[in-house]
Formats: sequence, C-alpha cells, structure tokens
Amino acid sequence: MLFRQKIYIIDLDNTLYDTWPTLGCSPSAQSISRRFITESIRMLRLPVFARFRNIVGRRVHRRQVLFLSARHKVFWLVTYLRLVKDFRTPRISLILVPRAEDKVPVMKSLSRSFSQMTVIDDFSYGHERGTVMFYESVRASAYRIATCVITGKRLSQLQRS
Ligand SMILES: [Mg+2]
Repeated sequence: MLFRQKIYIIDLDNTLYDTWPTLGCSPSAQSISRRFITESIRMLRLPVFARFRNIVGRRVHRRQVLFLSARHKVFWLVTYLRLVKDFRTPRISLILVPRAEDKVPVMKSLSRSFSQMTVIDDFSYGHERGTVMFYESVRASAYRIATCVITGKRLSQLQRS
C-alpha cells in the first residue's frame, strides 16, 4: 500500500454501516463468550449503507482504502469477513483500535506516506442513548492531518440511497 498517491481512511460504525439502531440490545449479564457471539452476529448483520458501499467499492478494488475503526481487536476477523462479503474481495486493509482517539496516530503515520489523504468518518457516538456527541479532538486532528475530511451532512448525502 505504501508509495501510492491517494489513500481513503474510512470508518465503519455509522459511516459504512447503520450501526446505532442495533446498539444497546445485548444484555450485559451474559457471559463473555456469549457476548462475543452475540456481538459477532450483530456485526455480521449490520445494515450497510448500500450507496456509500458502492461509491467506496471502486476505491477498495484499487486498494486505496484503509478501514479504520474503534472496535475491540477480538472482532478483527469477524469485521474482516464482513468487509470481504460486502466488497467481494479478500484484499481488505483493516485496522482496529481500542478507542476513537487511537485513530489519530494511525492517520499521522499514513499521512507521511501518501500525498493525498481523505478521511471519511462520522466522528459521533451516543445515538443509542438519545444524545449524539462528537469525538471533537479526533475530528479536529483529522482536519489538521488529512487533505480532505468527509463527515456530517456530506457524509449523510453519500449514505442516502
Ligand atoms: Mg463511527
């Protein structure tokens, strides 16, 4: 992937997938292995923003996309398999980080290898609790690091079919 001119860094939850309506329904009383299974099934069944997936698909096939998501690393395989299914290629670049803030160092280091970096991310959380909040500092860093940031209204336009 190095030495390419362009890279798209794309978030998953609430960006590629319509995640928030599926949150908050797994009872926390479950055992760890049970929760792993219910969470994996939830991730495999997430509704995809089909129009957005089609737009992104061409870039995925040109190997210009890195999917960067704040999900626990135990879900890497399930996330990868879901992306393989959605884009019909095993050539998927995927990095999972523990917290949204951890996306910043990844963006920084990639920005040294690519002349053009587009970040597509909703930068939001908390929809399922009724109040949408934003990862302000992550968003601000993305604006500083990337050549182009697609979020907010522009992102919803791409998602709507
Ligand atoms: Mg997101």
